Amino acid sequence: MTDKTLDLDFPAWPQFGQDERDGLIRALEQGQWWRVAGREVDDFEREFAEFHGAPYALAVTTGTHALELALQVLGVEPGAEVIVPAFTFISSSQAAQRLGAVAVPVDVDAGTYCIDPAAVEAAITARTAAIMPVHMAGQLCDMDALGKLSTASGVPLLQDAAHAHGARWRGQGVAALGSPAAFSFQNGKLMTAGEGGAVTFPDADQYEMAFLRHSCGRPRTDRTYRHQTSGSNFRMNEFSASVLRAQLARLDSQIDTREQRWPLLAGLLAGIPGVVPQATDDRCTRNPHYMAMFRLPGVTEQRRNQVVDALIARGLPAFAAFRAIYRTNAFWETGAPDESVDAIAGRCPNSEALSTDCVWLHHRTLLGSEQQMHAIAEVVSDVLATS
Ligand SMILES: *Cc1c(COP(=O)(O)O)cnc(C)c1O
Repeated sequence: MTDKTLDLDFPAWPQFGQDERDGLIRALEQGQWWRVAGREVDDFEREFAEFHGAPYALAVTTGTHALELALQVLGVEPGAEVIVPAFTFISSSQAAQRLGAVAVPVDVDAGTYCIDPAAVEAAITARTAAIMPVHMAGQLCDMDALGKLSTASGVPLLQDAAHAHGARWRGQGVAALGSPAAFSFQNGKLMTAGEGGAVTFPDADQYEMAFLRHSCGRPRTDRTYRHQTSGSNFRMNEFSASVLRAQLARLDSQIDTREQRWPLLAGLLAGIPGVVPQATDDRCTRNPHYMAMFRLPGVTEQRRNQVVDALIARGLPAFAAFRAIYRTNAFWETGAPDESVDAIAGRCPNSEALSTDCVWLHHRTLLGSEQQMHAIAEVVSDVLATS
């Protein structure tokens, strides 16, 4: 039963208004609805790149495709190894595996849930072609340590920024950190057109190669079918871009609200016995807070799932966190390392624990009022004490 005494009527997601409506009509009335003849995708790319401090952005069909395309541009070939965190959404590893590469899972930090640079270092081999930090719930990975590792080893980084629209590291935009970053605009993400993705690039050559590959290898002005490289069709349509331009304009104020609410909520959650909220790193100077995450350290998966069900029954948009990728069938179908599940689990103890004891709340909760942060904590406390 939904709690009647507490206000849990959080803002809806996605949010939209007249700007999205105007955008859709604008795209419609162009009379041409693909990027080749329209202006919305071009304009969106320029605005998105500028917002994130990148010289170039390429809009694509989904966040998964964004990762796949970026890995290809970084030269990831069949048989190459891509280092990914074990605790992430499956697209991070699937993108590498779809290219015929091997996804090598490594452990994350127990507090921030972000990839552990020491574990990355230990996993680098002569075949490593890319390292993929995933900025978990908007908390940026240790980009200082990862940047140094990348420079020292010569292995490029690809940031999975599907949770990190608008994030900053030491004041710099996430796309200004010298490596490509891949974003998602799926329905639940921090800005959305239902589906969609983008990759930002620090470098013109990478961007041009990505453009070719996302459009069947065809140069922009080609009229004689001179396809230059292999590729696929990952082009975003004009309607999506028109909605995303309006969504981008909403992002700053939404981040401001979530950045005010999270410290309050985290403080309240930390005061509940058995609850540990996701840790932050001060060098992440802007955290857009894609999820409100917390752990119930030491509980079984069954107990965690029972708590999530009870939170939902009380009216909170609560979810069980990701299962470690090596604990899915999908991971083992193609491009898995030559190791047993137990061997990987043995070197990924934090991912192993997180996949059984971690819970997250939808970011729309963090768009709620201060009073609603107190209400969330009250429900969590009550559920843990009574269910
Ligand atoms: C959502 C997500 C993706 C993939 O994005 P889609 O647009 O759904 O394909 C990739 N990585 C992470 C970590 C995600 O959460």
